[in-house]
Amino acid sequence: MSTQTSAHAPALATHSWSIVLSTIALVFAVAIATAAINGWLPPVVRRTRRALAAGAVVLATILVVVSSGSGPSLVTVGLAAWAMAETFGVGLGSAAFAVAALSAAFATLAKGSPTLAAGSALLAAAVGALPYFHARRIAKVQARRDRRVTRLEAQIARPTPARPMPTEALKREVLLSVERTEATKDLAILDAFLRDVRDLIQADEVIFWRWSEDRDTLLPHAWSTEESDRPQYFRVKDWGALARWSAQERIVTLDGTETTTMLAAAPVLGADNEDHVLHGVVTISCNSGLALEREAVKAWLPRFASQLAGYIELFDMRTQYGRSSRRNQALIEAMQRLQVHKSAEALGSAVCEAALEVTSGRSALLIRWLPQDAYGLIQYASRELALEPGMIIGKDTLVGRTCREGMPLLLHDARAVTRSEPAYTSTLAYRPIPSLVVVPVVCEQRVIGAIVVEGAEPGSIGVEEARNVGLLAGVARAFLEKVWEIEEVTLRARTDALTGLANRRHFDEQLRRVLAETDRFGGTSSLVLVDIDDFKVINDTYGHEAGDAVLRHLGKILGDGVRAVDICARFGGEEMAILLPQTAIAGATELAERLRTAIADRAVLFEGTPIRVTASFGIAGYPETVPHGDWLFPATDKALYLAKETGKNCVKSLLTSDGIPTKYQGGRQQ
Ligand code: GH3
Ligand code: MG
Ligand code: MG
Repeated sequence: MSTQTSAHAPALATHSWSIVLSTIALVFAVAIATAAINGWLPPVVRRTRRALAAGAVVLATILVVVSSGSGPSLVTVGLAAWAMAETFGVGLGSAAFAVAALSAAFATLAKGSPTLAAGSALLAAAVGALPYFHARRIAKVQARRDRRVTRLEAQIARPTPARPMPTEALKREVLLSVERTEATKDLAILDAFLRDVRDLIQADEVIFWRWSEDRDTLLPHAWSTEESDRPQYFRVKDWGALARWSAQERIVTLDGTETTTMLAAAPVLGADNEDHVLHGVVTISCNSGLALEREAVKAWLPRFASQLAGYIELFDMRTQYGRSSRRNQALIEAMQRLQVHKSAEALGSAVCEAALEVTSGRSALLIRWLPQDAYGLIQYASRELALEPGMIIGKDTLVGRTCREGMPLLLHDARAVTRSEPAYTSTLAYRPIPSLVVVPVVCEQRVIGAIVVEGAEPGSIGVEEARNVGLLAGVARAFLEKVWEIEEVTLRARTDALTGLANRRHFDEQLRRVLAETDRFGGTSSLVLVDIDDFKVINDTYGHEAGDAVLRHLGKILGDGVRAVDICARFGGEEMAILLPQTAIAGATELAERLRTAIADRAVLFEGTPIRVTASFGIAGYPETVPHGDWLFPATDKALYLAKETGKNCVKSLLTSDGIPTKYQGGRQQ
């Protein structure tokens, strides 16, 4: 009894406590659980939330035991377990839930009510199971995301398929670097050989000097002195001439006294051909005198030189073979590729690419040559040359002359020539070109174009390169002829049939081009408009046919009177235009004056009757006269109008933009 009473009193006291505590724990657990789920816990709580969650579970479990499984305490257990699951993961959360649920069952069982025990256990299980399912859902989402990330990573990690060489230029780079690597390896072998010989005969230094036919020089090619970028012991002042003497006379020369030999030089001559090509000279020097006797040196040195020649020839042959087989391959490929290109531009680009592949050139150029007019047109040019297609190659330039002569031109060192003479066009500043080959493209004994290759350094374009460009020209000839024939037809569409000058459409195109070029390169470009005076009267007096003859006559005077770069056009009716790129108004005026007097002085003979004509000229320049290219034509038109106003047969130019009526600005008024 007493036991019962004593047991009852604390139970009652704890019961009221349990309600307070369970309410606190409930709030606590709910707060933590929801916060943990939503992830918006304040930083302090976030750091301690594991402890808080665990505390909530412990507290709730104690509560359940103390309150013998009261309803709110069971809900608290479930929520606390949920919080636990959120912070520690499903396993621990479920374990906590299981402990709490079991405690609840035991507590109610102890109270002697199995139904209540089962009910509370079920309730705890229901509430406590929530974290388990919730966590599973999260885990599933996470797993799906992980799979996606893995797939993405796998995709990133997958090696990209091997791509074709990005550009022909890169391919060329690679080939050149292969050649360079091979040459470096060969040199290392040669150096080692010379070192062995030096040690064997106890000399200071053994050098192989390479003979350069093109430049008439002996240059150190390989030497025995280790880790030095040039020979160290060779006394150029004393021995240079001796070595040269050896090369020129093809004999062994010695320097020293009767007893000591300080220098021995011998020619290195090719063995594989009749005339024993000279590869260079080998020199052996020892300041304290060679250990070998004079006679012994004389006998031994040529044998050593011929052994060296063997090495040189082998290396040369391999380099040549490698290079020429690569270039032959490139030629074959070029041949196949050229057939594919239908447009002149694509063909031009392909020819230039091929030209660079079969040589070690830096840049290439394809020119179309018009033999009857004696000028060339750039078809394609490597970008770094800054030459635009359509630019004119004058007949008096280096390339123009080569085209006229029809013979290939090879300049190992083109610097001096190109410094004093324009290579392509006289309107651009002269630029010294290190080395150059120009190969005319000949079709039925007519030069129709030229392939030009520039080398990066003097001597980098040699006979073999020229030969290859020649072969390429032979391959490209037929294709170029066909494509250019098509262009010819297009050209006819640009020409005025009566005068042979450019027609209006072509003139408009050229005007746009020249204005754009002026914007790009600077300077002034001028426009001249020509209108025949009282042409109506000529027509009325002599007939329309005579009028046509006058037009033809004038067309000839204008066409012959201008440079190749200038564009003469018949503009419609009896008006003509001359476009003068890179010409200031002063120059244009001079030209116009010359043309005006030529017209006035030479009468046109029509069916035996001389017809006198005069013409008026209007001139304006861009940007000399007008600030916008679009205003050049209206300004010139205005100048022509002034010339007519002033009494005809004269030249008037507009020097400032003041005189342009606004109605003209932005387009010509018809
Ligand atoms: P102005 O000195 O003011 O220029 O007087 P103009 O008589 O030359 O006058 P305008 O420039 O207006 O003359 C245009 C004339 O040119 C009209 C037309 O008979 C003539 N014409 C235009 N095209 C041709 C052509 O193709 N052949 C011939 N024979 N005459 C043409
Ligand atoms: Mg007119
Ligand atoms: Mg007229």
